[in-house]
Amino acid sequence: MTTEAHLLAKLGRLSAELERLKRSGVTAVPGALDPRWFERLKKAAQIDEAAAKKGAPPAPTPSPVTHASPPVNDTLELIAAEVAGCVACGLAATRTNTVPGEGEPQARLLFVGEAPGADEDAQGRPFVGRAGKLLADMIVAMGLTRERVFIANVLKCRPPGNRDPLPDEVAACEPFLRRQIARIRPDYICALGRISAQALLKTKTPIGQLRGEFHDYHGTPLLATYHPAYLLRNPGEKKEAWKDLQLLMARMGLPVPPQRS
Ligand code: SF4
Repeated sequence: MTTEAHLLAKLGRLSAELERLKRSGVTAVPGALDPRWFERLKKAAQIDEAAAKKGAPPAPTPSPVTHASPPVNDTLELIAAEVAGCVACGLAATRTNTVPGEGEPQARLLFVGEAPGADEDAQGRPFVGRAGKLLADMIVAMGLTRERVFIANVLKCRPPGNRDPLPDEVAACEPFLRRQIARIRPDYICALGRISAQALLKTKTPIGQLRGEFHDYHGTPLLATYHPAYLLRNPGEKKEAWKDLQLLMARMGLPVPPQRS
C-alpha cells in the first residue's frame, strides 16, 4: 500500500472512532485533537509502508493523546483506557503495565509523583514499593488514607532502570495528567519530588527552593515536598517533609499534631 492509502485507511478508522464517540455523547473530541497527533499518524503510515515493503505487519496506530482541551464527557476510566493503549513515547516499548493512577475520583488532595518504578510497572499501580509504603505512612500521618486521596505520576510508564524522565516523555504524557486534574478538580496538589514539581510548575528551580511554600497550578494551590524515595535515601530530611505536610494540613483545615522530634 502507498503512504496515501495507509493514511486514508487510518483516517477512516479514526473517523469511525470519532463517530462512535459522538454517538456516545462525546462531542468535543474532534476539536480536542492536537495537530501533532496527525504528524504521528503520518509517520506511522510511513513506517507501515516501509514495513509492508519488507512483508512485516503494519505498526499499531498511535493513540491521540495530546488534547488542546479534554473531551466534555472525560472520565478517569477513559483516560486510563487511553493510557493503556498509548504509544506516544518510547516508554511504551519497555513497559510491562501502564500506571495511570488511583484513588478517590473527587479527592480534595492529589499527590503527583515522578514515574512508576519496578514494583509499580509490575502491578500497574502507583507507589506500591518501599517508597509507596512511606507515602502511605505520610498520608496516614496527615489523618487521611490512600483511599481518600488520588495518587498519580507525571509519567504513566516506567523509564528503564528508573532513570529520570526525558523532556519529550514528560511533554508526551502531560496531557493525561492535565486531564486527570481537570476531572478530579482537587483542592490541593502535592508534588512529590523535583521532577514532579518542575514539570507541573514549568520551572527549573531546585526542589529545595520550591518546597516549604504554596505555588499556583492553574488556580489550584500546589505544595512541593521531597519524594518518598529520596526520603528513604536521606532519612534526615523526613522532618523537613513533615513540615511541608503540616503546612498542607493547616491549609486544608486538617488537625495539625505537634511538631515531631
Ligand atoms: Fe504514553 Fe505516557 Fe506511556 Fe509515554 S509514558 S507511552 S506518553 S502513557
